[in-house]
Amino acid sequence: LLPYTHRTLLEINLSAIAHNIRTFNAFLNPDTRMMGMVKAAAYGSGSAEVARLLSFQGIEYLGVAYVDEGVELRKAGITLPIMVLNPEPVTFSSLSEYDLEPEVYSLAQVQALAQYTRTRGSVIRIHLKVDTGMRRLGFMPTDLDELIRLLQEHPQIPLASVFSHLAASEDEGEDAFTRDQAMRFNDFYERLCAALDYCPLRHLLNSAGIARFPQYQMDMVRLGIGMYGLEVCGELQGRLRPSFRLSSRISQIRPVLAGETIGYGRRGRAEKDRKIATVSIGYADGLLRRAGNGRYSFRLHGKLAPTVGNICMDMCMIDVTHIPDAREGDEVLVFGEELPIERLAAVYETIPYEVLTGISGRVKRVYI
Ligand code: PLP
Repeated sequence: LLPYTHRTLLEINLSAIAHNIRTFNAFLNPDTRMMGMVKAAAYGSGSAEVARLLSFQGIEYLGVAYVDEGVELRKAGITLPIMVLNPEPVTFSSLSEYDLEPEVYSLAQVQALAQYTRTRGSVIRIHLKVDTGMRRLGFMPTDLDELIRLLQEHPQIPLASVFSHLAASEDEGEDAFTRDQAMRFNDFYERLCAALDYCPLRHLLNSAGIARFPQYQMDMVRLGIGMYGLEVCGELQGRLRPSFRLSSRISQIRPVLAGETIGYGRRGRAEKDRKIATVSIGYADGLLRRAGNGRYSFRLHGKLAPTVGNICMDMCMIDVTHIPDAREGDEVLVFGEELPIERLAAVYETIPYEVLTGISGRVKRVYI
């Protein structure tokens, strides 16, 4: 038996991630670079270990959401260039200290960085985000004149790249919109480049985009969810290997008699005599209460065992009446392998991204 504190494990299969990167590389020209998105602790997997793998897999850039995620990677010895999606002015000194490259999406940010670097005599390479239809963050064509003026005046904030993000690259019904985004992006880039005396890298595609629109691969692509084995579009079906496996263990098995109730609020009810197993995973681990009361089943000895009653903070109960070999200490599979994460995502009425990033920090990550 594993120590009690590590009964719930998220296993990350690094060779599956390497396989998935090779699969995406097959869509690309040999000289197209790849940025590995390792934000949100590499989609829940634990960023430093995955980042280390990526640096051995020919990935040329990393993308994180916040400066502290980038600092953590640097402290773990990662030397690849790192783009930070949300740089706050209070983090500018860390950007310099740890050689991190911020995304900028507004003129105010460019001005703030220009001023910061000028006063300190430092250089910070920046990545310019263009809003081509996501309507979230980024420059619009109306910003171009002022943007060009600022960049010409401040060579100490050179552009490392110009990029945009697709809103619906996985959705065939939105292909016309995706093509429009690519057109608007190219237009913006060309106007910018014509005014500068250098041409920065340009990139647009995320995972589904790589598989569905390789014609827009440009200089670099940004690979996120696909790297972790989620087949976000039909073109990837059967080609990726899931890299996540979440499991826990049975802490106790008890008979529950007909008429008794199980757990908080007495929500689980035994209509007949039942054998109930308590499993060491709860909502504080990221297993939402939505998965309770039979809405989700774990896998145990090749059979499905439905949840019974409400999910508790640190544990939950499953019905193992029909699994005679269930024993205390046995491993139960929450998702992974024969139990695709999409099933749990469907119960939560969400997407696998949210399930993965919702697995809490106390769940032990193990790399295999
Ligand atoms: N690029 C940016 C700017 C992102 O925010 C993300 C993820 O949300 C990605 C790329 C990767 O997207 P995906 O996980 O769909 O590959």
